[in-house]
Amino acid sequence: MNAALAMRCVCGHYAEGVDEDDLARVLRVHLDREHPEIAVDVDDDELRTIIGACAYVAIGGEAAPPFAGGVRG
Ligand SMILES: [Zn+2]
Repeated sequence: MNAALAMRCVCGHYAEGVDEDDLARVLRVHLDREHPEIAVDVDDDELRTIIGACAYVAIGGEAAPPFAGGVRG
């Protein structure tokens, strides 16, 4: 119940969802708002691929490793 799917954006933003669908929605909103230049390039399928590759199960609070292969802010 406390487990959630989470990942960290390249900008360092911590995003969390109850499942893959939810996390995709959260990331979509974040991308549209903060990274419109990325948002236009990443469709929903690609977003799922990224989540599948980079998201991890977070239990409880924030304990996020850096975005895999990403840049640290
Ligand atoms: Zn970001």
